[in-house]
Amino acid sequence: MQTSNATSLTSRHVAVIGAGASGLVAARELRREGHQVVVFEKDSQIGGTWVYTPQVETDPLGLDPTRQIVHSSLYKSLRTNLPRESMGFMDYPFVPRAGEGSDPRRFPGHAEVLKYLQDFAREFGIGEMVRFECEVVSVEMVDNKKLKVKSKRRRLDGDDDLLDEVFDAVVVCNGHFTQPRIAEIPGINLWPGKQTHSHNYRTPEPFRDKVVILIGSSASAMDISLEIGGIAKEVHIASRSVADDTCEKQAGCDNIWLHSMIESAHKDGSVAFRDGNSIIADIILHCTGYKYCFPFLKTNGIVTVDDNRVGPLYKHVFPPIFAPQLSFVGLPYRNIPFPSFEIQSKWIAGVLSDRIVLPSQEDMMEDVNTLYSTLEDSGVPKHHTHNMGDTMSDYSVWVASLCQCPCFEEWRIQMFYETVKRLHANPKTLRDEWEDDNLLLQAREDFSKYI
Ligand code: FAD
Repeated sequence: MQTSNATSLTSRHVAVIGAGASGLVAARELRREGHQVVVFEKDSQIGGTWVYTPQVETDPLGLDPTRQIVHSSLYKSLRTNLPRESMGFMDYPFVPRAGEGSDPRRFPGHAEVLKYLQDFAREFGIGEMVRFECEVVSVEMVDNKKLKVKSKRRRLDGDDDLLDEVFDAVVVCNGHFTQPRIAEIPGINLWPGKQTHSHNYRTPEPFRDKVVILIGSSASAMDISLEIGGIAKEVHIASRSVADDTCEKQAGCDNIWLHSMIESAHKDGSVAFRDGNSIIADIILHCTGYKYCFPFLKTNGIVTVDDNRVGPLYKHVFPPIFAPQLSFVGLPYRNIPFPSFEIQSKWIAGVLSDRIVLPSQEDMMEDVNTLYSTLEDSGVPKHHTHNMGDTMSDYSVWVASLCQCPCFEEWRIQMFYETVKRLHANPKTLRDEWEDDNLLLQAREDFSKYI
Protein backbone atom coordinates (compact mmCIF):
# COMPACT_ATOMS: atom_id res chain seq x y z
CA MET A 1 0.00 0.00 0.00
CA GLN A 2 1.32 3.51 -0.85
CA THR A 3 0.17 6.98 0.11
CA SER A 4 0.31 9.56 -2.64
CA ASN A 5 1.73 12.85 -1.36
CA ALA A 6 0.45 14.86 -4.29
CA THR A 7 -3.19 14.14 -3.58
CA SER A 8 -2.91 12.60 -0.08
CA LEU A 9 -5.07 9.75 -1.30
CA THR A 10 -4.11 6.22 -0.36
CA SER A 11 -3.24 4.07 -3.34
CA ARG A 12 -4.05 0.38 -3.00
CA HIS A 13 -3.36 -2.76 -4.96
CA VAL A 14 -6.83 -3.89 -6.06
CA ALA A 15 -8.08 -7.00 -7.85
CA VAL A 16 -11.26 -6.72 -9.90
CA ILE A 17 -12.98 -9.99 -10.81
CA GLY A 18 -14.60 -9.79 -14.25
CA ALA A 19 -14.29 -7.55 -17.31
CA GLY A 20 -17.98 -7.11 -18.10
CA ALA A 21 -19.60 -3.67 -17.88
CA SER A 22 -19.23 -3.52 -14.08
CA GLY A 23 -15.60 -4.67 -13.99
CA LEU A 24 -14.61 -2.24 -16.75
CA VAL A 25 -16.08 0.79 -15.06
CA ALA A 26 -14.80 -0.34 -11.64
CA ALA A 27 -11.28 -0.59 -13.09
CA ARG A 28 -11.60 2.87 -14.59
CA GLU A 29 -12.84 4.49 -11.39
CA LEU A 30 -10.26 2.72 -9.23
CA ARG A 31 -7.42 3.86 -11.46
CA ARG A 32 -8.81 7.39 -11.65
CA GLU A 33 -8.63 7.45 -7.86
CA GLY A 34 -4.95 6.39 -8.00
CA HIS A 35 -5.18 2.67 -7.24
CA GLN A 36 -3.17 -0.03 -8.98
CA VAL A 37 -5.60 -2.39 -10.60
CA VAL A 38 -5.50 -5.92 -11.98
CA VAL A 39 -8.67 -7.16 -13.68
CA PHE A 40 -9.07 -10.95 -13.83
CA GLU A 41 -11.18 -12.15 -16.76
CA LYS A 42 -11.74 -15.81 -17.45
CA ASP A 43 -12.83 -15.20 -21.04
CA SER A 44 -10.48 -14.14 -23.84
CA GLN A 45 -12.23 -10.81 -24.37
CA ILE A 46 -14.05 -8.08 -22.48
CA GLY A 47 -17.85 -7.65 -22.43
CA GLY A 48 -19.20 -10.45 -20.19
CA THR A 49 -22.92 -10.90 -20.84
CA TRP A 50 -22.63 -9.00 -24.13
CA VAL A 51 -20.30 -11.56 -25.72
CA TYR A 52 -22.91 -13.60 -27.62
CA THR A 53 -22.16 -17.26 -28.26
CA PRO A 54 -24.32 -19.84 -30.05
CA GLN A 55 -22.89 -22.43 -27.66
CA VAL A 56 -25.24 -23.76 -24.96
CA GLU A 57 -24.59 -25.90 -21.89
CA THR A 58 -24.84 -29.69 -21.90
CA ASP A 59 -27.35 -29.61 -19.03
CA PRO A 60 -30.22 -27.37 -20.31
CA LEU A 61 -31.42 -26.59 -16.75
CA GLY A 62 -27.92 -25.87 -15.42
CA LEU A 63 -28.28 -28.28 -12.50
CA ASP A 64 -25.16 -30.39 -13.03
CA PRO A 65 -22.34 -28.67 -11.10
CA THR A 66 -19.69 -30.38 -13.26
CA ARG A 67 -21.06 -29.05 -16.56
CA GLN A 68 -18.97 -26.77 -18.78
CA ILE A 69 -20.39 -23.32 -17.97
CA VAL A 70 -21.27 -20.87 -20.74
CA HIS A 71 -21.25 -17.35 -19.28
CA SER A 72 -23.59 -15.37 -21.53
CA SER A 73 -27.36 -15.81 -21.61
CA LEU A 74 -27.97 -13.76 -24.75
CA TYR A 75 -30.17 -15.04 -27.55
CA LYS A 76 -29.33 -14.35 -31.16
CA SER A 77 -32.10 -11.84 -31.85
CA LEU A 78 -31.72 -9.90 -28.57
CA ARG A 79 -32.15 -6.15 -28.70
CA THR A 80 -31.65 -4.04 -25.58
CA ASN A 81 -34.61 -3.63 -23.25
CA LEU A 82 -33.60 -0.07 -22.37
CA PRO A 83 -33.11 2.79 -24.80
CA ARG A 84 -29.44 3.34 -25.51
CA GLU A 85 -29.46 6.91 -24.13
CA SER A 86 -30.31 5.74 -20.62
CA MET A 87 -28.11 2.64 -20.80
CA GLY A 88 -24.68 4.13 -21.31
CA PHE A 89 -22.12 5.26 -18.74
CA MET A 90 -22.64 8.83 -17.57
CA ASP A 91 -19.63 10.49 -19.20
CA TYR A 92 -19.40 8.18 -22.23
CA PRO A 93 -22.77 8.34 -23.98
CA PHE A 94 -23.98 5.28 -25.86
CA VAL A 95 -24.64 7.14 -29.10
CA PRO A 96 -24.75 5.52 -32.57
CA ARG A 97 -21.29 4.93 -33.98
CA ALA A 98 -20.23 6.20 -37.37
CA GLY A 99 -19.20 3.71 -40.00
CA GLU A 100 -19.95 0.30 -41.35
CA GLY A 101 -21.66 -2.30 -39.21
CA SER A 102 -23.12 0.20 -36.75
CA ASP A 103 -26.63 -0.35 -35.41
CA PRO A 104 -28.04 3.14 -34.82
CA ARG A 105 -31.41 1.99 -33.42
CA ARG A 106 -32.53 3.32 -30.03
CA PHE A 107 -32.85 -0.27 -28.84
CA PRO A 108 -29.93 -1.83 -30.70
CA GLY A 109 -28.95 -5.47 -31.08
CA HIS A 110 -26.49 -7.02 -28.63
CA ALA A 111 -23.47 -6.63 -30.94
CA GLU A 112 -23.78 -2.85 -30.70
CA VAL A 113 -23.56 -3.00 -26.89
CA LEU A 114 -20.44 -5.16 -27.07
CA LYS A 115 -18.91 -2.68 -29.50
CA TYR A 116 -19.76 0.17 -27.12
CA LEU A 117 -18.03 -1.63 -24.24
CA GLN A 118 -15.00 -2.33 -26.42
CA ASP A 119 -14.85 1.36 -27.40
CA PHE A 120 -15.20 2.35 -23.73
CA ALA A 121 -12.33 0.02 -22.76
CA ARG A 122 -10.14 1.39 -25.55
CA GLU A 123 -10.97 5.02 -24.77
CA PHE A 124 -9.92 4.64 -21.13
CA GLY A 125 -7.03 2.19 -21.67
CA ILE A 126 -8.69 -0.49 -19.57
CA GLY A 127 -7.47 -3.44 -21.65
CA GLU A 128 -3.93 -2.99 -20.33
CA MET A 129 -5.19 -3.77 -16.79
CA VAL A 130 -6.91 -7.01 -17.81
CA ARG A 131 -5.43 -10.50 -17.51
CA PHE A 132 -7.45 -12.53 -20.01
CA GLU A 133 -8.19 -16.25 -19.72
CA CYS A 134 -7.38 -15.94 -16.05
CA GLU A 135 -10.07 -17.29 -13.75
CA VAL A 136 -10.20 -16.47 -10.06
CA VAL A 137 -10.68 -19.74 -8.21
CA SER A 138 -10.47 -18.50 -4.63
CA VAL A 139 -10.50 -15.30 -2.60
CA GLU A 140 -9.82 -15.45 1.12
CA MET A 141 -9.00 -12.99 3.84
CA VAL A 142 -5.48 -13.35 5.25
CA ASP A 143 -4.33 -12.22 8.70
CA ASN A 144 -3.29 -8.67 7.96
CA LYS A 145 -6.62 -7.61 6.46
CA LYS A 146 -5.44 -8.39 2.97
CA LEU A 147 -6.94 -10.81 0.52
CA LYS A 148 -5.28 -13.79 -1.11
CA VAL A 149 -6.43 -14.33 -4.68
CA LYS A 150 -5.77 -17.65 -6.35
CA SER A 151 -6.17 -17.64 -10.12
CA LYS A 152 -5.69 -20.17 -12.87
CA ARG A 153 -4.64 -19.70 -16.42
CA ARG A 154 -4.84 -22.40 -19.09
CA ARG A 155 -1.44 -23.11 -20.68
CA LEU A 156 -1.01 -24.05 -24.34
CA ASP A 157 -0.22 -27.64 -23.32
CA GLY A 158 -3.67 -27.83 -21.64
CA ASP A 159 -2.42 -27.73 -18.05
CA ASP A 160 -3.31 -24.88 -15.67
CA ASP A 161 -0.89 -22.36 -14.17
CA LEU A 162 -2.03 -21.53 -10.64
CA LEU A 163 -0.99 -18.25 -9.08
CA ASP A 164 -1.39 -16.95 -5.50
CA GLU A 165 -1.24 -13.20 -4.99
CA VAL A 166 -2.06 -10.87 -2.14
CA PHE A 167 -4.13 -7.72 -2.73
CA ASP A 168 -5.22 -4.85 -0.47
CA ALA A 169 -8.77 -5.19 -1.82
CA VAL A 170 -10.97 -7.25 -4.13
CA VAL A 171 -13.94 -5.89 -6.07
CA VAL A 172 -16.32 -8.63 -7.21
CA CYS A 173 -17.83 -7.93 -10.66
CA ASN A 174 -18.57 -11.47 -11.86
CA GLY A 175 -22.14 -10.87 -13.09
CA HIS A 176 -25.31 -12.63 -12.02
CA PHE A 177 -27.02 -13.86 -15.18
CA THR A 178 -25.38 -17.25 -15.60
CA GLN A 179 -26.64 -19.67 -12.94
CA PRO A 180 -30.29 -20.54 -13.74
CA ARG A 181 -33.14 -20.41 -11.21
CA ILE A 182 -35.75 -23.05 -11.89
CA ALA A 183 -39.45 -22.96 -11.03
CA GLU A 184 -40.59 -25.64 -8.60
CA ILE A 185 -43.43 -27.66 -10.13
CA PRO A 186 -45.24 -30.40 -8.21
CA GLY A 187 -45.02 -33.68 -10.13
CA ILE A 188 -42.28 -32.51 -12.50
CA ASN A 189 -40.09 -35.57 -11.85
CA LEU A 190 -42.69 -37.82 -13.47
CA TRP A 191 -43.48 -35.48 -16.36
CA PRO A 192 -42.02 -36.99 -19.59
CA GLY A 193 -41.42 -33.75 -21.57
CA LYS A 194 -38.26 -31.73 -22.06
CA GLN A 195 -37.23 -28.79 -19.88
CA THR A 196 -34.78 -26.01 -20.52
CA HIS A 197 -33.89 -22.55 -19.13
CA SER A 198 -33.65 -19.30 -21.08
CA HIS A 199 -29.91 -19.26 -20.26
CA ASN A 200 -29.69 -21.93 -22.98
CA TYR A 201 -32.12 -20.32 -25.43
CA ARG A 202 -30.48 -18.99 -28.61
CA THR A 203 -32.95 -19.36 -31.49
CA PRO A 204 -36.59 -20.52 -31.80
CA GLU A 205 -35.84 -23.45 -34.17
CA PRO A 206 -35.87 -26.23 -31.50
CA PHE A 207 -39.46 -25.21 -30.67
CA ARG A 208 -40.85 -25.58 -34.18
CA ASP A 209 -44.35 -27.20 -34.17
CA LYS A 210 -44.11 -27.90 -30.42
CA VAL A 211 -46.52 -27.10 -27.61
CA VAL A 212 -44.42 -24.95 -25.32
CA ILE A 213 -45.01 -23.76 -21.76
CA LEU A 214 -42.92 -20.72 -20.97
CA ILE A 215 -42.66 -19.70 -17.30
CA GLY A 216 -41.96 -16.06 -16.50
CA SER A 217 -42.91 -12.49 -17.34
CA SER A 218 -39.60 -10.62 -17.58
CA ALA A 219 -38.47 -8.72 -20.67
CA SER A 220 -36.67 -11.82 -21.96
CA ALA A 221 -39.75 -13.98 -21.35
CA MET A 222 -41.87 -11.56 -23.41
CA ASP A 223 -39.35 -11.49 -26.27
CA ILE A 224 -38.84 -15.22 -26.34
CA SER A 225 -42.56 -16.03 -26.22
CA LEU A 226 -43.17 -13.81 -29.26
CA GLU A 227 -40.21 -15.28 -31.12
CA ILE A 228 -41.18 -18.88 -30.40
CA GLY A 229 -44.83 -18.09 -31.15
CA GLY A 230 -43.75 -17.49 -34.76
CA ILE A 231 -42.99 -21.18 -35.34
CA ALA A 232 -44.35 -23.21 -32.41
CA LYS A 233 -47.75 -24.88 -32.47
CA GLU A 234 -48.82 -23.23 -29.21
CA VAL A 235 -47.13 -21.16 -26.53
CA HIS A 236 -48.64 -21.04 -23.03
CA ILE A 237 -47.11 -18.44 -20.74
CA ALA A 238 -47.36 -19.23 -17.01
CA SER A 239 -46.98 -16.08 -14.96
CA ARG A 240 -46.81 -15.53 -11.20
CA SER A 241 -47.88 -11.93 -11.63
CA VAL A 242 -51.44 -12.51 -12.88
CA ALA A 243 -54.62 -13.49 -11.04
CA ASP A 244 -55.23 -17.22 -10.47
CA ASP A 245 -58.17 -17.36 -12.90
CA THR A 246 -56.24 -15.80 -15.82
CA CYS A 247 -56.40 -17.60 -19.14
CA GLU A 248 -56.40 -15.25 -22.12
CA LYS A 249 -55.14 -15.13 -25.66
CA GLN A 250 -52.37 -12.54 -26.12
CA ALA A 251 -53.51 -9.58 -28.22
CA GLY A 252 -52.53 -9.98 -31.86
CA CYS A 253 -51.22 -13.54 -31.38
CA ASP A 254 -53.24 -16.55 -32.49
CA ASN A 255 -51.25 -19.20 -30.68
CA ILE A 256 -50.03 -17.53 -27.46
CA TRP A 257 -52.00 -17.72 -24.22
CA LEU A 258 -51.32 -16.13 -20.85
CA HIS A 259 -52.13 -18.28 -17.80
CA SER A 260 -51.68 -18.14 -14.06
CA MET A 261 -48.90 -20.32 -12.60
CA ILE A 262 -48.57 -24.05 -13.12
CA GLU A 263 -50.37 -26.10 -10.50
CA SER A 264 -48.86 -29.52 -11.32
CA ALA A 265 -47.27 -31.67 -14.01
CA HIS A 266 -48.24 -35.32 -14.68
CA LYS A 267 -46.96 -38.64 -15.98
CA ASP A 268 -49.28 -38.52 -19.02
CA GLY A 269 -47.55 -35.34 -20.30
CA SER A 270 -50.25 -32.97 -19.10
CA VAL A 271 -49.59 -29.75 -17.22
CA ALA A 272 -52.33 -28.13 -15.14
CA PHE A 273 -52.56 -24.38 -14.50
CA ARG A 274 -54.10 -22.70 -11.48
CA ASP A 275 -56.75 -21.28 -13.82
CA GLY A 276 -58.19 -24.81 -14.14
CA ASN A 277 -56.92 -25.54 -17.68
CA SER A 278 -54.71 -28.46 -18.52
CA ILE A 279 -52.68 -29.09 -21.70
CA ILE A 280 -50.37 -31.76 -23.05
CA ALA A 281 -47.06 -30.00 -23.63
CA ASP A 282 -43.74 -30.95 -25.26
CA ILE A 283 -41.38 -28.47 -23.59
CA ILE A 284 -41.25 -26.30 -20.49
CA LEU A 285 -38.99 -23.28 -20.90
CA HIS A 286 -38.04 -21.65 -17.58
CA CYS A 287 -37.52 -17.90 -18.06
CA THR A 288 -37.30 -17.64 -14.31
CA GLY A 289 -34.16 -15.65 -13.75
CA TYR A 290 -30.80 -16.37 -12.21
CA LYS A 291 -29.03 -17.00 -8.90
CA TYR A 292 -26.14 -15.04 -7.44
CA CYS A 293 -23.13 -17.28 -7.35
CA PHE A 294 -19.61 -16.70 -6.00
CA PRO A 295 -17.91 -20.09 -6.11
CA PHE A 296 -14.50 -18.51 -5.44
CA LEU A 297 -15.41 -16.67 -2.21
CA LYS A 298 -14.04 -18.33 0.94
CA THR A 299 -15.43 -16.37 3.89
CA ASN A 300 -16.13 -19.14 6.42
CA GLY A 301 -19.84 -18.62 5.97
CA ILE A 302 -19.71 -14.90 6.81
CA VAL A 303 -20.87 -13.74 3.39
CA THR A 304 -23.57 -16.05 2.08
CA VAL A 305 -26.20 -16.35 -0.61
CA ASP A 306 -29.40 -17.27 1.21
CA ASP A 307 -32.52 -17.60 -0.95
CA ASN A 308 -30.77 -15.29 -3.45
CA ARG A 309 -29.99 -12.65 -0.82
CA VAL A 310 -26.27 -11.84 -0.79
CA GLY A 311 -25.45 -10.79 2.71
CA PRO A 312 -24.79 -9.20 4.94
CA LEU A 313 -24.00 -6.26 2.67
CA TYR A 314 -24.04 -2.59 3.56
CA LYS A 315 -26.07 -0.88 0.81
CA HIS A 316 -25.59 -3.89 -1.52
CA VAL A 317 -21.84 -3.23 -1.73
CA PHE A 318 -19.72 -3.80 1.42
CA PRO A 319 -19.86 -6.83 3.76
CA PRO A 320 -19.38 -4.99 7.09
CA ILE A 321 -16.82 -7.44 8.53
CA PHE A 322 -14.63 -7.35 5.44
CA ALA A 323 -15.16 -3.69 4.50
CA PRO A 324 -13.63 -2.02 2.69
CA GLN A 325 -11.30 -4.81 1.50
CA LEU A 326 -14.11 -6.77 -0.13
CA SER A 327 -16.87 -5.19 -2.18
CA PHE A 328 -19.43 -6.03 -4.88
CA VAL A 329 -20.53 -4.05 -7.92
CA GLY A 330 -23.74 -4.67 -9.79
CA LEU A 331 -25.85 -6.78 -7.44
CA PRO A 332 -28.99 -4.57 -7.53
CA TYR A 333 -31.47 -5.28 -10.31
CA ARG A 334 -34.54 -3.51 -11.77
CA ASN A 335 -32.36 -0.46 -12.20
CA ILE A 336 -30.29 1.15 -14.93
CA PRO A 337 -27.27 -1.12 -14.87
CA PHE A 338 -24.27 0.70 -16.37
CA PRO A 339 -24.65 4.11 -14.66
CA SER A 340 -25.46 2.32 -11.38
CA PHE A 341 -22.23 0.30 -11.68
CA GLU A 342 -20.40 3.56 -12.30
CA ILE A 343 -21.69 5.20 -9.12
CA GLN A 344 -21.03 2.14 -6.95
CA SER A 345 -17.50 1.96 -8.39
CA LYS A 346 -16.81 5.60 -7.55
CA TRP A 347 -17.92 4.90 -3.99
CA ILE A 348 -15.63 1.87 -3.63
CA ALA A 349 -12.69 3.73 -5.19
CA GLY A 350 -13.20 6.68 -2.82
CA VAL A 351 -13.52 4.48 0.27
CA LEU A 352 -10.36 2.56 -0.63
CA SER A 353 -8.39 5.77 -1.02
CA ASP A 354 -9.68 6.99 2.38
CA ARG A 355 -11.40 9.96 0.73
CA ILE A 356 -14.81 8.62 1.77
CA VAL A 357 -15.33 7.19 5.25
CA LEU A 358 -17.61 4.23 5.89
CA PRO A 359 -19.67 4.00 9.09
CA SER A 360 -18.35 1.67 11.82
CA GLN A 361 -18.80 -2.07 11.36
CA GLU A 362 -21.56 -2.03 14.02
CA ASP A 363 -23.43 0.80 12.33
CA MET A 364 -23.24 -0.92 8.95
CA MET A 365 -24.58 -4.16 10.49
CA GLU A 366 -27.39 -2.24 12.12
CA ASP A 367 -28.28 -0.69 8.77
CA VAL A 368 -28.34 -4.15 7.15
CA ASN A 369 -30.58 -5.51 9.91
CA THR A 370 -32.92 -2.54 9.59
CA LEU A 371 -33.24 -3.21 5.86
CA TYR A 372 -33.98 -6.89 6.48
CA SER A 373 -36.66 -6.05 9.08
CA THR A 374 -38.25 -3.46 6.80
CA LEU A 375 -38.41 -5.96 3.95
CA GLU A 376 -39.85 -8.62 6.20
CA ASP A 377 -42.45 -6.25 7.69
CA SER A 378 -43.55 -5.28 4.18
CA GLY A 379 -43.83 -8.91 3.10
CA VAL A 380 -40.97 -8.66 0.60
CA PRO A 381 -39.37 -12.10 0.17
CA LYS A 382 -35.62 -12.51 0.79
CA HIS A 383 -34.94 -13.18 -2.85
CA HIS A 384 -36.06 -9.64 -3.68
CA THR A 385 -33.50 -8.01 -1.37
CA HIS A 386 -31.52 -6.58 -4.29
CA ASN A 387 -34.57 -5.54 -6.31
CA MET A 388 -34.27 -1.76 -6.50
CA GLY A 389 -37.79 -1.11 -7.82
CA ASP A 390 -38.93 2.29 -6.62
CA THR A 391 -35.80 2.87 -4.51
CA MET A 392 -33.46 3.10 -7.53
CA SER A 393 -33.43 6.87 -7.62
CA ASP A 394 -33.00 7.44 -3.85
CA TYR A 395 -30.25 4.83 -3.63
CA SER A 396 -28.25 6.23 -6.53
CA VAL A 397 -28.62 9.83 -5.38
CA TRP A 398 -27.48 8.78 -1.89
CA VAL A 399 -24.37 6.95 -3.16
CA ALA A 400 -23.52 9.77 -5.56
CA SER A 401 -23.79 12.34 -2.76
CA LEU A 402 -21.25 10.35 -0.70
CA CYS A 403 -18.92 10.43 -3.68
CA GLN A 404 -19.60 14.14 -4.20
CA CYS A 405 -20.32 13.40 -7.83
CA PRO A 406 -23.45 14.04 -9.87
CA CYS A 407 -25.96 11.21 -10.02
CA PHE A 408 -27.32 10.13 -13.35
CA GLU A 409 -29.82 12.43 -14.92
CA GLU A 410 -33.55 12.39 -14.11
CA TRP A 411 -34.43 11.76 -17.79
CA ARG A 412 -32.68 8.37 -17.60
CA ILE A 413 -34.96 7.34 -14.76
CA GLN A 414 -38.04 8.56 -16.58
CA MET A 415 -36.98 6.69 -19.74
CA PHE A 416 -36.51 3.56 -17.65
CA TYR A 417 -40.03 3.71 -16.17
CA GLU A 418 -41.55 4.65 -19.52
CA THR A 419 -39.93 1.59 -21.09
CA VAL A 420 -41.02 -0.76 -18.30
CA LYS A 421 -44.59 0.52 -18.66
CA ARG A 422 -44.61 -0.04 -22.42
CA LEU A 423 -42.93 -3.44 -22.18
CA HIS A 424 -46.12 -5.01 -20.92
CA ALA A 425 -48.55 -2.82 -22.85
CA ASN A 426 -46.84 -3.03 -26.28
CA PRO A 427 -44.19 -5.75 -26.27
CA LYS A 428 -44.21 -6.06 -30.06
CA THR A 429 -43.61 -2.40 -30.83
CA LEU A 430 -41.71 -1.38 -27.70
CA ARG A 431 -38.38 -1.03 -29.46
CA ASP A 432 -39.50 0.78 -32.60
CA GLU A 433 -42.18 3.21 -31.41
CA TRP A 434 -41.98 5.61 -28.49
CA GLU A 435 -43.54 8.71 -27.04
CA ASP A 436 -40.69 10.14 -24.98
CA ASP A 437 -39.24 12.55 -27.52
CA ASN A 438 -39.02 15.22 -24.80
CA LEU A 439 -36.68 12.96 -22.81
CA LEU A 440 -34.68 12.18 -25.92
CA LEU A 441 -34.15 15.90 -26.46
CA GLN A 442 -32.86 16.32 -22.90
CA ALA A 443 -30.51 13.38 -23.39
CA ARG A 444 -29.07 14.83 -26.57
CA GLU A 445 -28.57 18.18 -24.90
CA ASP A 446 -26.68 16.54 -22.02
CA PHE A 447 -24.61 14.39 -24.35
CA SER A 448 -23.35 17.46 -26.20
CA LYS A 449 -21.06 18.03 -23.16
CA TYR A 450 -19.21 14.83 -23.95
CA ILE A 451 -19.31 14.51 -27.72
P1 FAD B 1 -21.22 -9.68 -16.80
O1 FAD B 1 -21.49 -8.92 -18.02
O2 FAD B 1 -21.85 -10.99 -16.63
O3 FAD B 1 -19.63 -9.83 -16.67
C1 FAD B 1 -19.03 -10.60 -15.68
C2 FAD B 1 -17.63 -11.00 -16.18
O4 FAD B 1 -16.95 -11.69 -15.12
C3 FAD B 1 -17.65 -11.95 -17.36
O5 FAD B 1 -16.82 -11.46 -18.37
C4 FAD B 1 -17.11 -13.27 -16.79
O6 FAD B 1 -16.38 -14.03 -17.74
C5 FAD B 1 -16.23 -12.77 -15.67
N1 FAD B 1 -16.02 -13.74 -14.58
C6 FAD B 1 -16.99 -14.40 -13.88
N2 FAD B 1 -16.41 -15.18 -12.93
C7 FAD B 1 -15.07 -15.00 -13.04
C8 FAD B 1 -13.95 -15.53 -12.34
N3 FAD B 1 -14.09 -16.39 -11.33
N4 FAD B 1 -12.72 -15.14 -12.70
C9 FAD B 1 -12.55 -14.26 -13.74
N5 FAD B 1 -13.57 -13.74 -14.44
C10 FAD B 1 -14.82 -14.09 -14.09
N6 FAD B 1 -28.68 -4.45 -19.19
C11 FAD B 1 -28.93 -3.28 -19.80
O7 FAD B 1 -28.44 -2.23 -19.36
N7 FAD B 1 -29.72 -3.22 -20.92
C12 FAD B 1 -30.26 -4.32 -21.47
O8 FAD B 1 -30.94 -4.23 -22.47
C13 FAD B 1 -30.00 -5.59 -20.86
N8 FAD B 1 -30.49 -6.73 -21.37
C14 FAD B 1 -30.15 -7.93 -20.81
C15 FAD B 1 -30.62 -9.09 -21.40
C16 FAD B 1 -30.27 -10.33 -20.87
C17 FAD B 1 -30.79 -11.59 -21.51
C18 FAD B 1 -29.44 -10.39 -19.72
C19 FAD B 1 -29.03 -11.72 -19.14
C20 FAD B 1 -29.00 -9.24 -19.12
C21 FAD B 1 -29.34 -7.99 -19.66
N9 FAD B 1 -28.90 -6.80 -19.09
C22 FAD B 1 -29.19 -5.60 -19.68
C23 FAD B 1 -28.15 -6.82 -17.83
C24 FAD B 1 -26.65 -6.99 -18.09
O9 FAD B 1 -26.27 -8.21 -17.62
C25 FAD B 1 -25.91 -5.88 -17.44
O10 FAD B 1 -26.22 -4.72 -18.15
C26 FAD B 1 -24.39 -5.99 -17.48
O11 FAD B 1 -23.92 -6.31 -18.74
C27 FAD B 1 -23.83 -6.90 -16.42
O12 FAD B 1 -22.46 -6.63 -16.33
P2 FAD B 1 -21.53 -7.30 -15.26
O13 FAD B 1 -20.17 -6.81 -15.55
O14 FAD B 1 -22.08 -7.08 -13.91
O15 FAD B 1 -21.64 -8.86 -15.52
